Amino acid sequence: MTNPPSLPQPETVRAVALFSGGLDSILAVQVVRLQGIDVQGVTFETPFFSARKARDAARQIDLPLRVVDFADEHLEMVKAPRYGYGKNMNPCIDCHALMLRKAGEIMEEMGAAFILTGEVLGQRPMSQGKQSLYVVAKNSGYLERVVRPLSALLLPETAPEREGKVDRERLLAIQGRGRKTQMQMAADMGITRYEAPAGGCLLTDAMFSRRLRDLFSHLPGCTARDVEMLKYGRHFRIDEQVKAVVGRNHQDNLAIERTAGDGYTLIRMVGYPGPLTALSPGWNEEGLRTAASLCVLYSDAPKDLPVTVNILSGMTLRSLDIAAASPDEAARRLV
Ligand code: SF4
Repeated sequence: MTNPPSLPQPETVRAVALFSGGLDSILAVQVVRLQGIDVQGVTFETPFFSARKARDAARQIDLPLRVVDFADEHLEMVKAPRYGYGKNMNPCIDCHALMLRKAGEIMEEMGAAFILTGEVLGQRPMSQGKQSLYVVAKNSGYLERVVRPLSALLLPETAPEREGKVDRERLLAIQGRGRKTQMQMAADMGITRYEAPAGGCLLTDAMFSRRLRDLFSHLPGCTARDVEMLKYGRHFRIDEQVKAVVGRNHQDNLAIERTAGDGYTLIRMVGYPGPLTALSPGWNEEGLRTAASLCVLYSDAPKDLPVTVNILSGMTLRSLDIAAASPDEAARRLV
């Protein structure tokens, strides 16, 4: 007896999800998975935002997640975004387009059929209006391959929908800023843990943005490490090129030391508790003395007498006796 010929198995459709870990991205993944589509999550890391939320959420819904560190490429985009900044230094349109482009490259590499995102039409007036959604997808180079499952019925049909890879009828028509529909969907799907949608990107933070503007205007060739340093301590402008970073607490001191690596000069108090101070490259003796005097100001040393600090520059260690800077000078130099 011969075996009956086996029927051809329908090919599994694969998709790549741009996955922030916010509720909308979780729901977008689940809506597509309900159609039997195999989804690979992708998220990004830079000094401006981490992948923590995405990692936690991916674990919750058992989503395979690829974390891509694209700090250098992203930083070059932040320096000169084609579509400009939002309220602070957040170039959301260019940033989304870059993420989509990266996700598109992964889609091609995996032989997946499309990219999906949790974007909701009209949820953020600037970056999620119809025109912005179009511009973002177009600039990614994958206009026809970007599916927004939560708002798809309100947007033009895409190639994977026409090709029958994803069933348009089973996609949704959510729009606007309200969260009720999404919260109800989460409850129906048993998704109980999710974070507030906003937050997590330093480029939307006013104080951080001020520091970043100062860095870009004084050091256009700044690197991801210079940006990382903006997260810690108090920052003081020493001259056009050089800055001093003074730790505010033990955690700051550890982070500054970790980030400084070679290149930065480190100043430490001798005999009194005090902050670690890092001086960026290019300083002269006068700048070094100013930075040392700021270190003394924020230490427990007396403010009316010279005290000793140690200075470590590359492999060279030396000492310097210096009095504290005045609070007025510190205020004037504060970035
Ligand atoms: S908020 Fe930050 S991470 Fe999100 S799109 Fe805007 S710049 Fe990019």
